[in-house]
Amino acid sequence: MASVSEASVAAATDQLRRDQSVAKNLFFGEIVEENLFPYPRMRERDREMLGAMVDAIEDFLKDKHADLKQWDRDAHQPEEFIQALREMGLFGLIIPEAHGGLELSNAAYARVLAQTSGHDSSVSLTIGAHSSIGMKGVLLFGNDEQKARYLPRLATGELIAAFCLTESGAGSDAASVRTRATANEDGSWTLSGEKIWITNGGIAGLYTVFARTDTPTGKMTAFIVDADAAGVSHGPHEDKMGIRASSTTTVAFADVRVPAENVLGEVGKGFKVAMAILNNGRTGLGGGAVGGMKALIRLATQQAKDRKQFDRPIAEFGLVREKIAQMSIDCFAAESAVWMVAHYIDSGCTDYSVEAAISKVFASDAIQRAAHEALQIAAGNGFMREFPYEQITRDSRILSIFEGTNEILRLYIALSGLKDVGTGLSGLRSALGDIFNNPIKGFGVLSEYAGRRAREATGIGTDKIVRELHPRLRKAAQVYEKYVVELSTASDQLLRKYGKGIAEQQYQQKRVADIAIDLFVGLCVLSRADALVAAGDAHADSAVAIAEIFSKQARRRMFRNARAMDRNEDPASDQLAGMILEQGRYPWDVI
Ligand SMILES: Cc1cc2nc3c(=O)[nH]c(=O)nc-3n(C[C@H](O)[C@H](O)[C@H](O)COP(=O)(O)OP(=O)(O)OC[C@H]3O[C@@H](n4cnc5c(N)ncnc54)[C@H](O)[C@@H]3O)c2cc1C
Repeated sequence: MASVSEASVAAATDQLRRDQSVAKNLFFGEIVEENLFPYPRMRERDREMLGAMVDAIEDFLKDKHADLKQWDRDAHQPEEFIQALREMGLFGLIIPEAHGGLELSNAAYARVLAQTSGHDSSVSLTIGAHSSIGMKGVLLFGNDEQKARYLPRLATGELIAAFCLTESGAGSDAASVRTRATANEDGSWTLSGEKIWITNGGIAGLYTVFARTDTPTGKMTAFIVDADAAGVSHGPHEDKMGIRASSTTTVAFADVRVPAENVLGEVGKGFKVAMAILNNGRTGLGGGAVGGMKALIRLATQQAKDRKQFDRPIAEFGLVREKIAQMSIDCFAAESAVWMVAHYIDSGCTDYSVEAAISKVFASDAIQRAAHEALQIAAGNGFMREFPYEQITRDSRILSIFEGTNEILRLYIALSGLKDVGTGLSGLRSALGDIFNNPIKGFGVLSEYAGRRAREATGIGTDKIVRELHPRLRKAAQVYEKYVVELSTASDQLLRKYGKGIAEQQYQQKRVADIAIDLFVGLCVLSRADALVAAGDAHADSAVAIAEIFSKQARRRMFRNARAMDRNEDPASDQLAGMILEQGRYPWDVI
C-alpha cells in the first residue's frame, strides 16, 4: 500500500491537466483548480535522498563561512573547494542514475540550492549554472549518443558546464546574437564570435553555445563545444558587485571547428532550445532565493532578540516585528510558488513557462526586499562588512538581472496571457463573421463568450474554487475568485482598446503582469496553507495567517493595478521621461 505522502503525491499528480497553464487561464477568468490543489508533496525517494544531502551540505559549509567570505573578497573559488563540491556529487544532482547522477527531481534540486544559498550564493551559482542552464540542453535535447558521451563526465564534475548566450550586442534581445556558425562541406561547423558574462566561463569543460546559422527554419542553432577545442578561450574573472567568487568571464570562439554530431537539437531551432533551458532552469534560481531568505530571517530574528535599545530588545518594537513578519510572508509565498512550478516540471506539464517566470520574478524581488529589511534591522552592524548582510544584499542583486531581467519577464507574463485572450477575441470576430455561413459554429463561440461576459458583469457563477477550505482560507479564496475575473475583464478591455498596439503599452503590461503574479502566487500560498491544515502541521495556524495576510495585501495591490488601467499618469510620466532623456540630465537646482 502506498504511504500517505506517496498517496497525496499521486493524488496531486493524477488529476493534473498537464496541457493547461494555470497562469494563462487566469487571463480567461479561470482557476485551474486541478493544477493547484492539493499542494504537491515531494516524492518519497527525493525526501530520503535530501535528508542525507542537506545534512552533508550543512556539515560541509557551516564551518566555512570565514573562507567563503574571503573568497568573496578575493573574487576566487579555489580548485580544492570545487573538487570538494564534485566529491559531494553536487554536479550530478539532476543527471539520471544511468549516466552516473543522482537523478533528483526539479523540486529536490531546488531544495539543494536553497541549502547552499543559505551559506553562500557563489557556491549555488557554480552548481546552478552547471545544472540549471549549462548542461540542461544535453539533458533536454541531447540524443542518446550525446548523452552517453557527456553526461557521465558532467555528473562527476570532471566537466563543468556553462551556458553561452549573451553577447555585447545581445542581452535581453537574445535572438540578435552575432556569433556565427558556418557550415563546412564535411557537415562540421566553424564557430566565431564572443560571449560575455558567462557563469562558470573560466572553469567549464563544456559550453552550450548559441550561434547564428540563418536557415529557413530559424536563425539560431545550439552547439555543444568542448572547452579544449582549438580556438576556444576565456577572459579573466570579472570583478563583480556580488557573487564575486563565482566564475564569470568572456568566452571567445576563434574559428572553432565543431563536429556535426555536436549540434544540440535541430539546426535553426536554437532559440527554442535556449528558451526551454531557461524556463526549465528557473526553479533552481527560485530555490536559491528562498534559501537566502531563510538565512536572512534567521539572522534578523537573532539580531532583533539580541540587540537592546531603550532598555528593550528591538524585537519588541512594532516596526521591527513588521519587517520580520513581512520577510516570512514573502519567503513562504516564494517557496509555495517555486515548488509548485517544480512540481509542474517534474510531472510532465507542457505549458509552465509563464508560471516559471512568475516564480522567478516574485522570488528574486522578495529576496531583495528581505535583504534590505534584514540589513535595516541590523542597521549600523548591517552596514559593516564584518556581518553577512551586505554580502547577501550584493549577491541577491543579480537575481533580477540574469536568466531574463524581471522587466522582460513581466512583459513575457503579460503578453503570453494576453496573446491567448487576443486569439479568443479574433476567434470571436471571425465567428461573428461566420455566423451567416455557419450559424452553429458561430453561436457556439458566441454563447461561451456571452456566458463569460455575463459572469463577469454579474459576478454570478464566479465561485471558482469548489474545494472545502478552512473558513479563514475561504475568505482569502474569494479575493482570488474576484480578481481573476478582474484580470479577465481588464485583458479583454485592453485588447479592445489597443488591439495589436498592446505590445507597445508597457505600463499596462506591467499592471497586468503584477495582477497575474499576485493571483498565481496567492493561489499557491492558499493551496499550501490548506495542505498544512489537512496534514495537521504544527505551524498550520501561522500558515493560514500568512495566506490571509497575503490575500489582503495582494487585494490592495491588485485593486490599485486594476484601477490604474483607466486612471493613471502614464502619458505625463512618459512625457517627463522624454524631456529628461532629451536633456540628458536632471535640469533643476536650488541655487
Ligand atoms: C553575473 C552575471 C552572470 C551572467 N551569467 C550568464 C550566463 O551564464 N550565460 C549567459 O548567456 N548570460 C549570462 N549573463 C547575462 C545576463 O543574462 C544578461 O545580463 C541579461 O540577460 C540582461 O542583458 P543586459 O545586461 O545586456 O541588459 P539589457 O538587455 O541591455 O537591458 C538593460 C535594461 O533595459 C531593460 N530592457 C531591455 N529590453 C527591454 C524591453 N524590450 N522592454 C523593457 N525593458 C527592456 C532591461 O530589463 C534592463 O533593465 C550574466 C550576467 C551577469 C551580470
